[in-house]
Amino acid sequence: MNLLEKEDLIKVKAEELENASPEDIIRWAVETFPNITFACSFGAEDVVLVDMLQKVSPSTDVFYLDTDYHFKETYETRDIMADKYGMEFVRVSPQITIEEQALQYGEALWNVDPNQCCAIRKVEPLTRILSQYDAWITGIRRDQAPTRANAKKVEYDYKFGLVKFNPIADWTSEDVWNYIRENNVVYNPLHDRNFPSIGCEQCTRAVMPGEDPRAGRWSGSEKTECGLHK
Ligand code: SF4
Repeated sequence: MNLLEKEDLIKVKAEELENASPEDIIRWAVETFPNITFACSFGAEDVVLVDMLQKVSPSTDVFYLDTDYHFKETYETRDIMADKYGMEFVRVSPQITIEEQALQYGEALWNVDPNQCCAIRKVEPLTRILSQYDAWITGIRRDQAPTRANAKKVEYDYKFGLVKFNPIADWTSEDVWNYIRENNVVYNPLHDRNFPSIGCEQCTRAVMPGEDPRAGRWSGSEKTECGLHK
């Protein structure tokens, strides 16, 4: 399928799938694009999608970007899920270690230039892994941030050059937590300690009552996204 054919198909399917269940969207995605992958951050939305994928298409590749700066609870969540589902999470790592980064850019690049740090530890590894696939699935939701408000259930990702599925784009946080409870899904225990959104330990703090759920990400800087989602 060339790009024009994909664009036409996506336009039609984006409308058709808008009211479909996430499971039906995943089913159509994996049947239409067998060379597909899911990007897992082990946050609440992503553990829901891992659970759905295990029920709908357990052989689909699931990868995570290992920045080397995740909380220990995030790595523990990965291991508990891998055990529970008998699956492997493909680890995608940066081209330089944290020691090499410190030598080249200084000890705390995330403070001095978080965009550069994310470019090295997230965007380049994501670009590399996505270049091997025709489509990817993400757990982004429209109400997470203004930058995500226009996400479609299926769209063409021009940044990375492949089809992108956002099966729970219209879900609320409550929908996510209802699914987790009803399906007994493993989740990162930091969510119970006022971390609604979890990234690298260096750039994530707990939020205060009344704060925006993403206020704990890159707190004190203008940055709001890693650069993974337009
Ligand atoms: S979230 Fe922070 S530590 Fe992680 S890659 Fe981005 S800037 Fe670096």
